[in-house]
Amino acid sequence: MSDHHKTVVQAVKKHWKDYFKPSSYKVDYRLKSVAQLSFLEENYNLIILDRDCTLHGYHAKHRIPDFEPALQRIKKKSEIVSNSSFEEMLRIRDVFGDLFPVNKLVFFASIASPCLLRFADGKLNVLSYNMETREFTDLTRNLSQKDKLLEKIVYNFRKPNPSAVRAVIDYNKFIGAIPKEKGRFLMVGDRYLTDIVCGNLAGITTALVEPVGHTSEKISLMLGRWLIDVPVGGLMSRLAR
Ligand SMILES: [Mg+2]
Repeated sequence: MSDHHKTVVQAVKKHWKDYFKPSSYKVDYRLKSVAQLSFLEENYNLIILDRDCTLHGYHAKHRIPDFEPALQRIKKKSEIVSNSSFEEMLRIRDVFGDLFPVNKLVFFASIASPCLLRFADGKLNVLSYNMETREFTDLTRNLSQKDKLLEKIVYNFRKPNPSAVRAVIDYNKFIGAIPKEKGRFLMVGDRYLTDIVCGNLAGITTALVEPVGHTSEKISLMLGRWLIDVPVGGLMSRLAR
């Protein structure tokens, strides 16, 4: 099954009730592109970015020069959370790893807690995440056979599930990068049904960008965007006002 189909199956299974609530679709900002984040970034401690069709075209290999000034400006307070597979996460790291940490929350067969996989400063960190205490244990050094472990990912938390976004916020609090008790967070993405619903379920501010390079998406993704995401998300977000 493709990443996209896995996302749909997981979203419908776990979040079908959330999809009927207009409050899940609240959009706080509608932006032409991430270039406009230059005007917003001052108001936020942490910006969570989607990748495909938000930062560049679908599975693209290069950054967009027009976005570069804004990305350089927000790089110290921004992180990527993607729904892609681990293999695709490596490609995201190759394109954006010098700017932003790249994150994914997963379950391994052999570890009871979920683990945050986080590429930062060129290194992969594996952090076990206690969802109740919101604390992390760094497993990176104990993992002699990291590659073997990575083959054993049994569950990938995908947006709109807010757990990966919460993990990234909690991790930044845990390491003291942002204040423990408060903080202002912004979720940025191009799709209502994944990014915007995720931001609302995580209880943070949301920004919807116009999709970049969406004509390079697979046909099933394009149909999903124009037949479901835009009409349903657009209508529900109007009701959410
Ligand atoms: Mg996207």
